[in-house]
Amino acid sequence: MDILAVGSVAFDSVETPFGKAEEVLGGSAAYFSASASYFADVGIVAVVGEDFPDEHIGTLKGRGIDTRGLKKVKGKTFRWRGRYDYDLNQAHTLETQMNVFSDFKPMIPEDYREAPFVFLANIDPELQMEVLTQVRKPRLVACDTMNFWIEGKPGFLRKLLKKVELLVINEAEVRELAGEPGLVKAAKKVLEYGPKTLIVKRGEYGAVMFNGRSIFSAPAYPLEDIFDPTGAGDSFAGGLIGYLANTNDLSDGNIRKAIIFGSVMASFNVEAFSLRRLISLTADDIESRYGEFKRLTHFEDI
Ligand code: AMP
Repeated sequence: MDILAVGSVAFDSVETPFGKAEEVLGGSAAYFSASASYFADVGIVAVVGEDFPDEHIGTLKGRGIDTRGLKKVKGKTFRWRGRYDYDLNQAHTLETQMNVFSDFKPMIPEDYREAPFVFLANIDPELQMEVLTQVRKPRLVACDTMNFWIEGKPGFLRKLLKKVELLVINEAEVRELAGEPGLVKAAKKVLEYGPKTLIVKRGEYGAVMFNGRSIFSAPAYPLEDIFDPTGAGDSFAGGLIGYLANTNDLSDGNIRKAIIFGSVMASFNVEAFSLRRLISLTADDIESRYGEFKRLTHFEDI
């Protein structure tokens, strides 16, 4: 196994200006794993309730994801309800039901513990920390979080960040975490909390990497049709970490390429609700959009 991913597996109900989806498969770990599965072997650690259909587990297995760490327990699956207005960069959370996540204690299967890459997808930072106490010397620990936890569990989050090398969060979250409105200053401050590299997700404006030595900025793919931005951040992280695990190269130059693969995967994900687009890609689709990104950003001195 190359990547151990912990996070939410959920029923999402989403409304965008272009349509609606009720109780569809979602969750940070589901999006992340589906995306990363095109690049590397992924094992998922999460919990679902008795109401979670085997068909969804089959969808994840169909991508070659190891689901032995996905536990089904008594109770209801985690639910998230959100709305996007015309500003598709801004998710408005209408409801979060923790359900079976309320008393979930992640138990990492023995052979997942050696995974060289660990991704702590968006979930309670206390659970993210518990995962770290069970793994053995990973090459890279990366993590995501959101305003819900920055506001709800700031102490745990700051403790966790000391143990994380790569933090991948949204622009507004960087500003909130640092308590600083300017992005460059806020990024500097967040790097002082522990991570060596910070990747800031900026929705349809792309992503920016800060590591204290250099700054790298990548655009998002200019899509004509965006249906649902849910999971864009997690599929971005899936492409990013998937590519890093595939190449086993953490140099600055390779992280830049990985950011482009992350952007490629996020661009596919937003083309349909739930994981629909993300589970039906081919290697050619990914390569060809990567090529388009190269052309999109290429320029020469004249
Ligand atoms: P994003 O990639 O940032 O759009 O993340 C969207 C996913 O995050 C959705 O599929 C939700 O189920 C999941 N999610 C939303 N809120 C939370 C939360 N508080 N904890 C864990 N997962 C969440």
